[in-house]
Parts: sequence; C-alpha cells; structure tokens
Amino acid sequence: MTTLPPESAPLHGVPSYLDKNNLGPWEIYLEQVDRVTPYLGKLAYWAETLKRPKRILIVDIPIHLDDGTVAHFEGYRIQHNTSRGPAKGGVRFHQDVTLSEVMALSAWMTIKNAAVNLPYGGGKGGVRIDPRNYSQGELERLTRRYTTEIGLVIGPDKDIPAPDVNTNPQTMAWMMDTYSMNVGRTATGVVTGKPVQLGGSLGRADATGRGVFVTGAQALLKLGIPLQGTRVAVQGFGNVGYAAARIFQDNGAKIVAIQDVSGTIFSAAGLDPYAVQAHLQSTGSVTDFAGSDTLNKAEFWDVPCDVLIPAALEKQITPDNASRIQARVIVEGANGPTTPAADDILRERGVTLVPDVLANAGGVTVSYFEWVQDFSSFFWTEMEINARLDRIMAEAFNSLWDVAERHGVTLRTAAYIVACTRVLEARALRGLYP
Ligand code: NAD
Repeated sequence: MTTLPPESAPLHGVPSYLDKNNLGPWEIYLEQVDRVTPYLGKLAYWAETLKRPKRILIVDIPIHLDDGTVAHFEGYRIQHNTSRGPAKGGVRFHQDVTLSEVMALSAWMTIKNAAVNLPYGGGKGGVRIDPRNYSQGELERLTRRYTTEIGLVIGPDKDIPAPDVNTNPQTMAWMMDTYSMNVGRTATGVVTGKPVQLGGSLGRADATGRGVFVTGAQALLKLGIPLQGTRVAVQGFGNVGYAAARIFQDNGAKIVAIQDVSGTIFSAAGLDPYAVQAHLQSTGSVTDFAGSDTLNKAEFWDVPCDVLIPAALEKQITPDNASRIQARVIVEGANGPTTPAADDILRERGVTLVPDVLANAGGVTVSYFEWVQDFSSFFWTEMEINARLDRIMAEAFNSLWDVAERHGVTLRTAAYIVACTRVLEARALRGLYP
C-alpha cells in the first residue's frame, strides 16, 4: 500500500452536485480509480484530482421549432482533466444524457487519451434530446445554439469536440461553422470527425475498427494464435463492427458469427462481411444470408470462436454469459461492454481481454491526426494515416502488455495504471494548475 505524504488532501471523492445515493456511471469510474490507486506509488498524492472534473458547463439551449413554438434543451460540456493537453471527447445527443453520464464519459476520455499517449486531456458533451423526433432544420439550430453556448470553453487549443452517439460529420460541420463565425475566422481545428471537404481526415471512418483489429492481432501474436484462419464473432455490425470484421477478414481471419439489432447469423465456413453488408443494405436484416444459420440472440455467446468483438452496446458481457464464451481473446470495440463481475470471471478463465480504453482508441487517434493536419493545413494520404495509426495502437498494446505482466494484472487495470500515472505525472510536474 502507498503511504500518502502527510500534506495529502482529505479524500472526499463525491462532489456535492451529484446525488450521493445515486451516483450513476460516475460511480463506476470512481471505483476504477480506487482500484488503481494502490499502484500509483507517490503519485497517489494527486489521485483525488482524478475524481474531480476540472470544469463543468451546463447550458440552456432554446430553439424555434418548425411549428413556431420555442423549446428548451439541457446541454453539457465537461472538461474532466487538462493536465496533458486540451480536453478532447465527443458530443452525444440522447434523451437520457445526465450530468453523471457525461462526467464518466469525460473521465474515460482522459484515461483513453493517456493510455494511448495522445497529448490530450479528457472532455465530453451532451444534449438531452431524442434526435429522432426533430427535423434536420431543428437539429441544425440546436447544434448551432449549443456550440455558441459552449463557445466559452471550447477552441482548437482548449477543448476539441467530436461525434459520439447520434452526432455525425454534418453535426461537426455545423459546430465548426458556428464557432468559426463567432470568432471571426475559419477554425477547422475546433472539432474533429468533420467531412473530408472541410478539413476532415482520410481514414477516420474505419479508424476505430482498424484499431480493434491491430490490438486484437497483437493479442493473438502474444498468445501464439495464428491470425490465418482465426475464427471471429462480432456483435454489432455498424461503424466499428463492420470495419473490424472486414479488416480481420482482409488479413486472413474468418468471420463465423455476426449479431446486430436485426438478428444473429453463424457459419463455421465463414461469413463474408462485404456480402453480409450488401445483404443488410438490401433486406434490412443480416438474417437469411445465403449459407448461414440463424441463431437466437443468446446463442451468440456459445459460438465456437477464437476472437469475440463486442461492438454494439454497453453491459453485454455479464456473469450470465461470461462463463459460456469460447473465445480466447475479447476485443472491446464498444465502450463498457463488459461488467466488472464478468471481467472477474473472464480473468479467472484465462480469457485475454483488450479493454475499450485501448481497443477502440483508433477513432480518437485519427481525430488527433485530423487536428494536427488542420493546424498545418497539410493533409496526409490514407496510407500514411493507417501506418501511423497501426504503429501507435501496436505500441500502446505492447506497453500495456508489459505493465500487465509486471504487476500480474489484467490489461484493463494496466491501462488505468499507465493512464493515471501519465496524467498525475503531468499534474505533479505542472504544480497545482491547471
Ligand atoms: P453504430 O450505430 O454504427 O452500430 C451499432 C451496431 O450495434 C449496429 O449494427 C446495431 O444493429 C447493433 N446493435 C444495436 N443494438 C443491438 C443489440 N441489442 N444487440 C446486438 N446488436 C445491437 O455504432 P458504432 O459507431 O459502431 O459504435 C458501436 C460502439 O462502439 C458504441 O459503444 C460506441 O460508443 C463505440 N465506439 C465507437 C467509436 C466510433 O468511432 N464509431 C469509437 C469508440 C467507441
């Protein structure tokens, strides 16, 4: 156990603006920090800093609706930590967004950016709205007004938003344009995930799936499992799952099962993700794909496979299915797909789990490239971007692997050790600011 210096601040942990009896997702994050603190040595002196978002902005967003009435929406921008650089993290439009959720997501961005060694702190934004109920014009007005309201705290060298759930390159184009008009010049570097025509980066669309592949392949290499013919099961066939499946197949692996919201398909001989995508586009479902068997939802977890990629939702791998999973490697494309109790079961069973803060960091890594390219207005080829992404992801995997071996801990705990150490070293070197 670490002995804290006597001048250590008392450990309060829970800020007054959260309900102490119902901390929401922030509670999971606090537990993760507590778990890693014993590994931080003298840096534990600064650990309380991780439990406090640096800055929280809550805004009211009034807009004219198409029917002539005025509606108000609640919006957030949180900068969890800026010790290593400007805050960076997405903006989520969802009716269930809460302060606690945005706090946790901003903190996980601090961890992710530090784990991969990107020169960023962590941030996140959100607006409580169900975008399905609003027109494109209403969403544009909402996005522009939200951008103006959080314009106080964002900026290319302060805090750089990006897309998250229910936001996309068009949303980023509106944000970039609004911020630019407010500051009186075009500032492409204020957001990432923009359309390529407006300073976006090549390679961004596949970047998260590519990072899932690179880290998964590194794990296979460590375990001595050949990539050629490796059987892969993918849950979620969207941006992340489809790209990961394609790239695994392009590199010799075999996709044996795909599950999405429309159903679950299996083929021991392999499912071609390109053809499954075409089938999904034309029929609206992955089921009835030629040569595949349809499984029920729960049977997905029993599929014989070597690699499992959860790339859909959070809390999918639970104590109910963790002992049935046959894969030797799990690569978390989604954020938070594995519950802590399931994590423990998988560890005991010797399953290697590449955690979300590493496995899905390919997206923010190419966002970093986009930001760098915007600063110099000099754009790289897709080959250059992929080569740099592959190197960063592989190096990050290998350094976390070494830490996990040294401490005898999981890759998830190793990621938190490395990330928290980097953040707190920066904190200690800078002093009490920022
Ligand atoms: P997406 O909307 O493109 O795809 C989601 C997929 O999940 C779809 O195929 C959908 O059918 C499937 N799905 C939804 N509900 C399901 C259910 N109940 N059972 C099985 N499948 C279901 O989203 P995405 O961008 O691919 O993101 C997936 C996950 O990856 C999310 O957790 C997201 O936060 C995370 N992530 C995405 C990125 C990125 O760059 N897109 C980066 C980091 C993390």
